Amino acid sequence: MERPERLIVDGRRLDGRRPDELRPLQIKAGVLKRADGSAYVELGKNKVLVAVYGPKEMHPRHLQQSDVAVLRCRYNMAPFSVEERKRPGPDRRSIEISKVVREALEPVLFLHLYPRAAIDVFIEILQADAGTRTTGITAAAVALADAGIPMRDLVAGISVGKADGTVLLDLMKEEDQWGEADMPIAVMPRRKLVTLLQMDGNFTPDEFRQALDLAFKGIERVYEAQKRALREKYVPASEEER
Ligand code: ADP
Repeated sequence: MERPERLIVDGRRLDGRRPDELRPLQIKAGVLKRADGSAYVELGKNKVLVAVYGPKEMHPRHLQQSDVAVLRCRYNMAPFSVEERKRPGPDRRSIEISKVVREALEPVLFLHLYPRAAIDVFIEILQADAGTRTTGITAAAVALADAGIPMRDLVAGISVGKADGTVLLDLMKEEDQWGEADMPIAVMPRRKLVTLLQMDGNFTPDEFRQALDLAFKGIERVYEAQKRALREKYVPASEEER
């Protein structure tokens, strides 16, 4: 596809959103029977599935830490997740994303409760349309909670950026590709602590502040959807028990 002349026309984006709008967001907790915890998230055309295993004994044993559990994250894009088939297996990008995702999630976990254990988080990108690392983080936090792992808070992710000189919430593929800036952010929402912040492109200091404000607004929406997904899974079950 060629770049359209303008990415924003009369204040509307290519998909009709205003600059401060998220794409449609759906989160479901506990979608996989054999994982200890799982979640499925759709954000616009992004489709992300996360499975969590653990805490369990760490193998290989030489990777055990005597005082804490080790969190291991694997971000993986399915070959069919992008327009041109992606070569399967890890590449530099997915290795980097796996690392920053782990660092974004670690602060909410009480890893010292499970010395010598491992917690494995598998993030599978089934369909990609920009913002997959932040969508992966959003899904992973729900899957960790679904696994019953004690957490200080959830972690919610969203990206902000700039296209045609306008600061935007939740970039889709065309805006990520042709825009001037892309800034993925992950936040522990209750205390508003940022656990991931990356940036491509450029912002003026004013635009940067504006983008950060938009990100926090988006994070609130994502956080509400995460909590709703967890309630939907657990509240009906407990009502049935009565
Ligand atoms: P994020 O998905 O977190 O925004 P990037 O900014 O690296 O990460 O990628 C933006 C988008 O570019 C992805 O969501 C995906 O739609 C597309 N993309 C990334 N890697 C590839 C690839 N190897 N082949 C085709 N498209 C890709």
